[in-house]
Amino acid sequence: MSEPLLHSCAPRRLYVQTFGCQMNEYDSLQVQRQLAALGYQPVEEMNRADLIFLNTCSVRGKAEQKVHSFLGRLRRLKEANPALRIIVGGCVAQQLGQKLLDRFEYLDLVVGTRAVNSIGQLLQQVEESGRRGAFLHDDGNCGPVFQPQEILPQPGITAPVTIMQGCNNHCAYCIVPAVRGAERSRRPGEILEEIRLLELSGVREVLLLGQNVNSYGRGLEEPIDFAGLLRRIVAETRVARIRFTTSHPKDLTEDLMNCFAELGPLCKHLHLPVQAGSDTILARMNRRYTAGEYREKVARLRRICPQIALTSDIIVGFPGETEEDFGKTMELIEDIRFDNLFSFRYSDRPNTRASGFADKVDGQAAARRLVELQGRQAAITLEKNLAETGSLREVLVEGPSKASHGQITGRTSQNRIVNFEGPVSATGKILPVRIVAAYLHSLKGTVSSE
Ligand code: SF4
Repeated sequence: MSEPLLHSCAPRRLYVQTFGCQMNEYDSLQVQRQLAALGYQPVEEMNRADLIFLNTCSVRGKAEQKVHSFLGRLRRLKEANPALRIIVGGCVAQQLGQKLLDRFEYLDLVVGTRAVNSIGQLLQQVEESGRRGAFLHDDGNCGPVFQPQEILPQPGITAPVTIMQGCNNHCAYCIVPAVRGAERSRRPGEILEEIRLLELSGVREVLLLGQNVNSYGRGLEEPIDFAGLLRRIVAETRVARIRFTTSHPKDLTEDLMNCFAELGPLCKHLHLPVQAGSDTILARMNRRYTAGEYREKVARLRRICPQIALTSDIIVGFPGETEEDFGKTMELIEDIRFDNLFSFRYSDRPNTRASGFADKVDGQAAARRLVELQGRQAAITLEKNLAETGSLREVLVEGPSKASHGQITGRTSQNRIVNFEGPVSATGKILPVRIVAAYLHSLKGTVSSE
């Protein structure tokens, strides 16, 4: 049993450590909001904290080991300060639940991916009862999926907004449906309200988040789909820019493609994970589209919105991938010419279907394929960036450049980073910038007076 935390008027200090994806970043923000209502202020040094919240991710490899080694390091802190509270949330918490409490006797609370919405309430229960606990989303005691939240002042001009949670797709390599549950969409009124509040705190760009945003709306009482949500955001808020991630190719509708041409604030960038160029591998991954269907959708989208930038994800070395299959992936990247690509070598995730596939690809072969793919894509990305030279782009200024001293930085609608001379006071403004040089990861520009 943990010692009760002394209640005093002094603000309590919260340290948050987040592993993994943007969904987790967003959940950590929600946790900060809820705990702020209980008097917790964020601190940057873990040693000064009264409460440590660890938000975990199982999408990347070695997740469990990372969590175990992080928690192992907290033992000394808890011994030095028995009133310290330690909470673990996120996907690893959802997967391991009680096992984490059993292994780390100084851990106070384990909250699953949906229970995180009730963290304030759960923490109070622990405070009052002095009993540790694991609350997972199949316990039926973790509260609603989404709760309206007070908005914290945003540190930047871009803010994430979750529009849905979970996923129904069951791709063979993915842990998300198991740990985040079935897909559930948030009501449009709540999303619009959150965006309006963000605008009031200075946010200019929202990033709509979900595992598969373009299936948004299924199961809601109000009939609406993702294209409908985008149109409502444009009509009912004044947000300057909208981005979203992630999309599943099978759910990319013509109506959504039309939004890119119709809606000014919708950034001309689509991240559309293809994962492989071989139909055999796509079928084994349970992606439910063929490489031909993917190519057709991209061609149609480019006809509708020629200025669209396209990025994607690829997994190499998926179980059963032959040299011929890999060759088809190389052909696909040659045909599509993505603006950028996030590529990974396949590795088993616990409790996924693919982890049980027998025909694993030899590690050296997979590593060689990844190097080949990344080398070719780097050349394509550079060529595409060089083609930007001389163009005039609208850049939303994000603040001082970390890469170039004395410069400011921002992004084009197509999500390219541009560094240029300008005052930091321009942060949050959209400026016309002439591109004068291009590199692999960024562009260089000058503010245009034209
Ligand atoms: S679409 Fe597939 S990869 Fe994406 S979250 Fe759902 S199951 Fe995972």
